[in-house]
Amino acid sequence: MMILKMKKEDLPAFLESAKEWGELWGPTTKDGKTSYAKVDSLSQMDLKATRTVIPPKKFLYPPRFTMFDFDEEGFVERTGDVPKRILFGLHPCDVHGILIMDKLFLETYKDPYYAERREKTLLLGHSCIPDDKCMCFATNTDFVAEGFDLFFTDLKMFYLVWVGSSKGHDLVRMRADLFSRNLDKNDILNYTEYRKWKTAQFKAKIDLTGMPDIFELGYNSPIWDELGEKCLSCGQCSMVCPTCNCYNVVDEVDLGTAEGTRDRFWDSCMFREYSVVAGGHNFRDKRADRLRLWYTHKLQAFIGEFGKPACVGCGRCVATCPVDINVATVSTALKEQEVGK
Ligand code: SF4
Ligand code: SF4
Repeated sequence: MMILKMKKEDLPAFLESAKEWGELWGPTTKDGKTSYAKVDSLSQMDLKATRTVIPPKKFLYPPRFTMFDFDEEGFVERTGDVPKRILFGLHPCDVHGILIMDKLFLETYKDPYYAERREKTLLLGHSCIPDDKCMCFATNTDFVAEGFDLFFTDLKMFYLVWVGSSKGHDLVRMRADLFSRNLDKNDILNYTEYRKWKTAQFKAKIDLTGMPDIFELGYNSPIWDELGEKCLSCGQCSMVCPTCNCYNVVDEVDLGTAEGTRDRFWDSCMFREYSVVAGGHNFRDKRADRLRLWYTHKLQAFIGEFGKPACVGCGRCVATCPVDINVATVSTALKEQEVGK
């Protein structure tokens, strides 16, 4: 993979040229909440924010969208109307989250709606400053080597820029005058120092080694009932998690006609209705069972199938759950057989 160097002061000019490719989106902060917004320039972005409330999965897999219009004659797919976008400022954990989505929606199942958005979205990563909720060191997602088009690592005066795709290379060529291939030993030393600095920033206490075995051993643990007593089944953890991907579909039919749309929207296995089947039976009626499914999927089943957890350590469940149920508290409770207060 090619690594280039760019002066930090040249980033605004680079992004200005990149806008020829598509809309520019980046992290912006308002009233203490950070979210991706369409921007005109770098000056509107907040590159110091650690995480957005909702991860960038929303661009590739929107919370709700129409798949097709139908009538008595047949249906017409709603494809082709997705704008070309450049997402700037993705952190390593979020790129890892998108790699998991790619595995599910491009490799395991071919999802044309996801594929179209992925094709029309450029991912420009940016290095981050971990806070006390970040756990990516425990999921091996604190650095990233693939899945992005370009990745910018901030080394104070310069950026080191990883070129991860031919589309990323095309963007670089639009302003080749801003990039240099003249890297020397100081760049290696600076990058090594940066990695050490980043590793030293993590404060969360979490150890996910051996989780598949711990989950197997703890399948019947009373811990699940204790956690189930606390859980509100609000589903916020699923909405904010960059790897949660359950959805439902609904037909919206115009009254008195056979015309309508088929819409797809985010769902959550934390919702009671999620597991109701024909006849009204609910095979995960208890909140404890739904919690166990969620965490078993993330930290046991996904590892068994794909060799890595479906948790990228972003800390959003830590920041979001109103009753303090998250990857850290659940994995610790299972190991120690005690739910912390
Ligand atoms: S674990 Fe927390 S965020 Fe998730 S459904 Fe339960 S209460 Fe809501
Ligand atoms: S389980 Fe929590 S920490 Fe892990 S990826 Fe999902 S929201 Fe982030």
